[in-house]
Amino acid sequence: MGNDRIIRCITTDGAVVISAAETSDIVFTASRLHKTSPVATAALGRLLTGCSIMGAQLKQKNASITLRINTVDGQTGTLVAVSDSMGNVRGYLDNPGCPTEYYSSGKLNVGKAVGKNGTLNVLRDYGSGEPYIGMVPLTSGEIAEDITGYFASSEQIPTVCALGVLLNKETHEVMLSGGFLLQLLPGALPSDIDRIEKNISSLEPVTTMLAKGMSIKEICDKALEGYEVEVLDEMPIEYRCSCSREKVERAFMMMSDEDIRASAEEKGHAEASCHFCNRIYRFSKDELEEIIKEKHRSDEEKN
Ligand SMILES: [Zn+2]
Repeated sequence: MGNDRIIRCITTDGAVVISAAETSDIVFTASRLHKTSPVATAALGRLLTGCSIMGAQLKQKNASITLRINTVDGQTGTLVAVSDSMGNVRGYLDNPGCPTEYYSSGKLNVGKAVGKNGTLNVLRDYGSGEPYIGMVPLTSGEIAEDITGYFASSEQIPTVCALGVLLNKETHEVMLSGGFLLQLLPGALPSDIDRIEKNISSLEPVTTMLAKGMSIKEICDKALEGYEVEVLDEMPIEYRCSCSREKVERAFMMMSDEDIRASAEEKGHAEASCHFCNRIYRFSKDELEEIIKEKHRSDEEKN
């Protein structure tokens, strides 16, 4: 069990909400699972962190949120993160080994790896009814700015988002990861905007604050300096995949009999691997025949 946590706070005057998360273990797990290059670790880590924070904002218990970046000119390929409504998150990218470049400052050039031409797609599934789907063009490919751009243009919510992943300079292992999402509520006044801008401009990067030993609550307090702050909730979060053998069986049941049988032709058994955790599910020919039988049984029940 890791130490990752998420906290949500609101100013007692109801003007500003903020969520902050530490995601070091989550991003470390993702980097191990997907064997990511340094820049891929940072890109996926930032997306996982943003997704976890947005997921924890969902009120419905069975809800989930998917952030997908489709890139035209980036080398990461498509990036996907999915969070449940408790902030537990999983994700992958198409090209985990993509080449790493740095800015002259020595920071990882995430924007170049992800690309500047593409879209950020947000899908909120409330567990029942129609999902909510939003899409914006990428702002910079640096992820935090793209999420800010999404809230500004798609949901008209003034938002500040900061996300950071700190890697060991030599081993490229994840040392720290975290982020926050601050949003002005409809009751906010121009004076609130001024104060928040002033607070944010004096904030250090999230991983710098975490490295100094600041808690996620202290990061929220610093961003909301001058306000009285109330904690809405705080909870542990982790990298969590929801795949199961039953779900793979259900996916097989969507296929035709011929396609199910064909999937075992090459190796004598069928294999399906999970994008999010790389777990491999194997099905023998006999097991596939059972799935086909089950499929026909459930088809008959429907008729
Ligand atoms: Zn999985």
